[in-house]
Amino acid sequence: MTSVSQVAAEYEVVIGLEVHSQLLTESKMFCACSAAYQDAPPNTTVCAVCLGLPGALPVMNRKAVDYVIRTGLALGCNISGFTKFDRKNYPYPDLMKGYQISQYDQPIAYGGRLEIETETGIKPIGVTRVHLEEDVAKLFHRTDEFGDNYSLLDINRAGVPLMEIVSEPDMRSPDEARSYLTQLQSILRYIGVSSANMEEGNFRCDANISVRPLGSPEFGAKVEIKNMNSFRSVHRALQHEAERQVRAVNEGEEIVQETRGWDESAGLTFTQRTKEYAHDYRYFPEPDLPPLVIEQGWVQDVLRVLPELPAARKQRFMHEYGLPEYDANLLTIVKATADYFESVVSLSEASGDALEQLAKQVSNWMLVELGRLLNETGREISEIKITPQGFVELLALVSEGTLSTSMAKTVFEEMFVSGKPPAEIAERQGLVQINDVDKLGNAVDEAIASNPKPVSEYLEGKEQAVRFLVGQVMRITRGKANPPMATQLLKERLDALRQSE
Ligand code: ADP
Ligand code: MG
Ligand code: ZN
Repeated sequence: MTSVSQVAAEYEVVIGLEVHSQLLTESKMFCACSAAYQDAPPNTTVCAVCLGLPGALPVMNRKAVDYVIRTGLALGCNISGFTKFDRKNYPYPDLMKGYQISQYDQPIAYGGRLEIETETGIKPIGVTRVHLEEDVAKLFHRTDEFGDNYSLLDINRAGVPLMEIVSEPDMRSPDEARSYLTQLQSILRYIGVSSANMEEGNFRCDANISVRPLGSPEFGAKVEIKNMNSFRSVHRALQHEAERQVRAVNEGEEIVQETRGWDESAGLTFTQRTKEYAHDYRYFPEPDLPPLVIEQGWVQDVLRVLPELPAARKQRFMHEYGLPEYDANLLTIVKATADYFESVVSLSEASGDALEQLAKQVSNWMLVELGRLLNETGREISEIKITPQGFVELLALVSEGTLSTSMAKTVFEEMFVSGKPPAEIAERQGLVQINDVDKLGNAVDEAIASNPKPVSEYLEGKEQAVRFLVGQVMRITRGKANPPMATQLLKERLDALRQSE
């Protein structure tokens, strides 16, 4: 099979993404029904408006507009001062009214960009537009005991606010498309407008892809791929489709503009329908809604509550805390992680090198130990029981030598479960490192007395023999000895022995 990398020398892949993301409003887009359709029993969150009954009139959800403005600003878009809704007509049983209220030629936001990371550095991807529309009902296709097909309809989802974010055809590989989606998801979650979860179906991606001979100024005909339900399947589908198109072109076939479905288990795309054109939808302005005027004051209000975005925060983490890019990246993808990190670090009054050292320690503990515990328990960082205060105290216990690193890991695990302060846990579990010279001295004497062979080896000049003896001290103290201190004491006593010989 020809791989994309093999053909990259002759062909260029062109990708543009259309993402639909549900907005986290309490009520639906044009009625007062609850938008929380996921856990509601089928057909319980419905009314005359979202059922599409004749005579019912839509009322605009201001919060949804607010969220699209917020998204537009986060993506560096212009916000339209004047916008409107349009009817997009198409016959399909999941569409209660026979048309969807959407936005055609005057989206709320347009002309933005999203920066992604590629192997060669940061690359801006154009954001064509962000517009607002309504989600459709859900169909469940079934087969009865006689083998006849039928469909069940759950209307709860109909009318849930849906935002569409359309990119420019600026991506040049499946990897870039995946970076775009990851970055977009992170931003939408940061600004709190969507839970942006592809597996749960509230973040959906249609991927448009074409290939062209390298250096060609024109784009090839694009194919739109649908039905992917994870970032991984988007990547796989694009990879597969790029290869299919290159093979087809090489065999002299013409690529036709069409919509293809992705079959996850077969790992291939298949023709669904030849692509419809805008005129097929017979768009016209929605007569039941007034145009929407977005005053500058509204935009300013939204701008004021916009949080620092992940890319900016990552850069700040690198500058302010001296963190490596790798750490800064992992700590800032999820807002709650970055917030937690800063709530720990900000408890310290350290500055300069000391602050950077602390930041790196906190980062290590978060990315390694905490990351593992969250993974194992399937918990979210937002539910974490370890208080920032406890976190800092634990690090202090390690740096002052009260706890060894391995003891600290045990304490950390217990803190993760109970949220108790580290000193209390360490005491209850008897996990305090022996730093007391007298106490440690007894163990050192015992180790020397009961291991004459390594002792004489050391005395004869084999310095490494001390390592075995340190191991013995650790065994005698059941791991509680402070190893550098034990080493030092052992050497002092052995050297004294040597002199007295
Ligand atoms: P349509 O009207 O068919 O929806 P648009 O021009 O609105 O087409 O583009 C839809 C998406 O397809 C956008 O994300 C855009 O970037 C992408 N796109 C457009 N042309 C191409 C192409 N030749 N190859 C890949 N993607 C494309
Ligand atoms: Mg489109
Ligand atoms: Zn309703």
